[in-house]
Amino acid sequence: MAGKKKLIIANWKMNPGKEKDALTLFVAVKEEAALRQNIQTVICPPFPFISVLKKNVSGRKCSIGAQNMHWEVNGAYTGEISSAMLLDYGIKYVLVGHSERRAFGETDEMVNKKLLAALRRGMSPVLLVGETERDSAGAFFNVVRDQITRAFEGAPRHLLKNIVLVYEPVWAISSHAALPCSPENILEMHIFIKKVLNDLLGSVAAGRLPILYGGSVNPENAGGIIAESGVTGFVVGNASLDTRKFARILEIADKMKPLAL
Ligand code: PEP
Repeated sequence: MAGKKKLIIANWKMNPGKEKDALTLFVAVKEEAALRQNIQTVICPPFPFISVLKKNVSGRKCSIGAQNMHWEVNGAYTGEISSAMLLDYGIKYVLVGHSERRAFGETDEMVNKKLLAALRRGMSPVLLVGETERDSAGAFFNVVRDQITRAFEGAPRHLLKNIVLVYEPVWAISSHAALPCSPENILEMHIFIKKVLNDLLGSVAAGRLPILYGGSVNPENAGGIIAESGVTGFVVGNASLDTRKFARILEIADKMKPLAL
């Protein structure tokens, strides 16, 4: 894990369209990341760019992650990528359970298999959970609790420390959102997630898990979210494709002290 450092993960999704643009973006971001003492930056590009970006990694502050992986190591799984392939490129962090994959039919059971496979292969699964919409009765809390409980089923205790948990409400992702989630709402969910993890894993193991936020993070809201909600990093989608915006998020996050929970 990133130790006490904040973890900022760029999810490029299916962008950019060309390798040369991916390389330009990566090199610019890598230089910005190298300036930050308290940040571990992870870039999750589309799979075809991993090889060339990996060759351009320098230092330890900015590494390459993956947006997805299958739970099997190899075999007849057309279109899938395995942990063995990712490990061949030295990839440690892999996103698991992103809402855009759940929307393609990825179930809690599949998310669980991916999380377990990543853990058993010595990787750090970045588990994304979050409700599709909010309701006034608070049923969305149960959605998040159920996603976490099902994803963690059977996870070996000694490997729990390798998991990164991200609260990413689907309605707050920039492609859906009119507004990002407020720091107060993130704080409330952060406290709830900590309670769920305490109940599930015990306070020692739960206390080791980094909890991040994702959903329309930008230079304007990044500082407030860290200071007021206590999360120790972000998953950044849209803003990670803009070097200036992403560099500013790194700079702000580097300086901010998360609210202690
Ligand atoms: C995401 O979908 O993982 C994400 C964080 O997107 P955005 O920052 O664009 O809301």
